[in-house]
Amino acid sequence: MLESPTSNPDILDAPIRVALPELARSAPTLLRLGVASPRQALFYLPFRYDDFSDLRSLRDLVPDEKQSAEVTVDSVRIEKGFGRAPQRVIAQLRDATGTAEAVWFGRRFVETRLRPGAEIIVSGKVTERGWRRQFTSPEFSPAGRESIHTARVVPVYPLTSGVTQKRLRNMLARILDRCLPLLDDPLQPDEHTGLPGLREALRTVHFPEDTGDVQPALDRLAFDELLALQLGLAQGRLARASLRAPRLAVEPRTVEEMVAALPFELTADQRTAIDEIVTDLGSDQPMRRLLQCDVGSGKTAVAAIGLAVAVRAGWQAALMAPTEILARQHHGGQAPLLDALGVRSAFLAGSLPAAQKRKIHDAIEGGEVDVVIGTHAVISEAVTFQRLGLAVVDEQHRFGVGQRASLQAKGADLEPHMLALTATPIPRTLALTVYGDLAISTIRQMPPGRQPIRTEIRDRSALPRIEAFLADEAAAGRQSFVVVPLVNESEALSVASAEAEVERLRSRLPHLRIGLVHGQQKAAQREKTMRDFAGADLDVLVATTVIEVGIDVPNASVMLVEDAERFGLAQLHQLRGRVGRGPHRSFCILLSDADDELARRRLDVLRASTDGFAIAEADLELRGAGNLLGTRQAGLPPLRVASLFEPRHLRLAERARELATFIVATDPALERRPALARLRSDFAPAEEEGDAA
Ligand code: ADP
Ligand code: MG
Repeated sequence: MLESPTSNPDILDAPIRVALPELARSAPTLLRLGVASPRQALFYLPFRYDDFSDLRSLRDLVPDEKQSAEVTVDSVRIEKGFGRAPQRVIAQLRDATGTAEAVWFGRRFVETRLRPGAEIIVSGKVTERGWRRQFTSPEFSPAGRESIHTARVVPVYPLTSGVTQKRLRNMLARILDRCLPLLDDPLQPDEHTGLPGLREALRTVHFPEDTGDVQPALDRLAFDELLALQLGLAQGRLARASLRAPRLAVEPRTVEEMVAALPFELTADQRTAIDEIVTDLGSDQPMRRLLQCDVGSGKTAVAAIGLAVAVRAGWQAALMAPTEILARQHHGGQAPLLDALGVRSAFLAGSLPAAQKRKIHDAIEGGEVDVVIGTHAVISEAVTFQRLGLAVVDEQHRFGVGQRASLQAKGADLEPHMLALTATPIPRTLALTVYGDLAISTIRQMPPGRQPIRTEIRDRSALPRIEAFLADEAAAGRQSFVVVPLVNESEALSVASAEAEVERLRSRLPHLRIGLVHGQQKAAQREKTMRDFAGADLDVLVATTVIEVGIDVPNASVMLVEDAERFGLAQLHQLRGRVGRGPHRSFCILLSDADDELARRRLDVLRASTDGFAIAEADLELRGAGNLLGTRQAGLPPLRVASLFEPRHLRLAERARELATFIVATDPALERRPALARLRSDFAPAEEEGDAA
């Protein structure tokens, strides 16, 4: 018997026009939304809902609320707008209890479907206009028939030009009806206990009976998305389990001697991290460890011991940083420590003269250099290690996975151990979830004797006093950072505001030397300005957030952040960490005119605490589903449905991790579970999504 097209599950992945010929004319529109197949349509999700489920008599309409009414159309008229205002279609409505109006702007076609005498259901927001109640641009449908547009919870989707909510809703409802029954649940019932089945979840997410049903349905989708992520991580772990690394084992006595050779007593956290790293290095399982630190908590020394252990065991090591200036600073910090530990290090950067680079390459290849410190570019390009045993990667999230992999290949047949450093504290549960394949060491204690940084919140009216303060600090030989806000995440606009700020400060403080760095400058120019600032040839450095990670200027004593409420707390904490690195009393001034309660409370968290981990937790709590850092910046995977900042989803992530580990252990390539193998693509972000918002 021939299968009818709509009973064949393959049509889920066929082009829309093939799968559902009756929607052929809509296919190009859907394609512009990133929807090519019915499966993609099922996963094209609303971003909010209009709850029109309250059906009221006209007498009982409540202004400023969304609601519905079953009415008779009394009359319809079209009014021309004044000047350029669009024309309006106005309908007089009536029911047994009273009258109301409905108005639509510039939509003449509405009128053709609204004859006087028609019985309709209108759904929309009601406003009070004098003595009249008015539905503004409501949805409507014939009375006596169920509709997906009225008198219920109605989904609102991201749109693109040329399609209305109503039309898209009709298309998606059609696709759901025809194709949802063909979709198999990739999970068995016992694998999603407490969460709805996939079909039910998708139906509910698109057309919920009740807004209260949406959250469990979204949780189910979030679980599947997190499972896709965790399956990938579990496969990676399994693949690596068969890899071998060199055993970089040294006598415990050797480690003690190295620790004793450091110019200070280690904190307990530093000591623990070192022990964890040394243990990993002594195993033939490649180390994959993240060293998570609060700013200024002293990860340099910990990394130095790791590098030295690798060298003492007879191997070479590398330390990579995302920018040349950071690499230089690492070298500056590491070289004295490594010298003290008897390790020969070299700095390598693209900007060095070719002859010098060649010499260093030769020395690395010949084994005369033990540790190379540089940017990933120079290390991955032409360098051949004799035997690379350990790669330390700073601010690991700034490197793509590919770049990390290319360094690893330098270890020839054995995998080098890898230690990633990050000064971006994230809560432990979150770290475990997203870096599921990394072991984690944490340093949150500060070395003793730190000068506390005084944090103040001020509004713009305090600017003159703040400027005077910057001038005083400069007169005392100190330096200041001024960070301008992110403007709608747009670097170009931020640059414009940074340039304006430099002009303003130069005219207010003509005797100060004021420099500017931003992300759109050439790297060389930016690095020169940073060097000038580091060398105290500038008093004030105005910057977009490019300075956020890692430049070390102990003479800087003031961090002024403008429109501070626009930054994530973790980011502000990073910025604050740029000062208080020397013997000088230091200040962080958060400039903010925001008067909403949440913004105030967030900034207060920062004023009250200097513990980056506590701040990250508090930010998570205050913002809930908000965005801790910008997922990209934190190196977190982009997720469409799940939010790693949502405690409920974080728990789901842990569950997903267990399930993924279990599944992959018996079926590494997911051959027996093709529906699971496909999960990832269900949640791949639609191309056009960004534009639609
Ligand atoms: P970060 O973790 O931000 O990279 P660093 O490793 O640069 O921090 O250390 C910050 C400063 O603290 C450096 O000047 C370093 O010499 C100093 N330091 C690190 N550990 C200790 C310690 N245990 N006792 C005293 N000073 C320390
Ligand atoms: Mg440092």
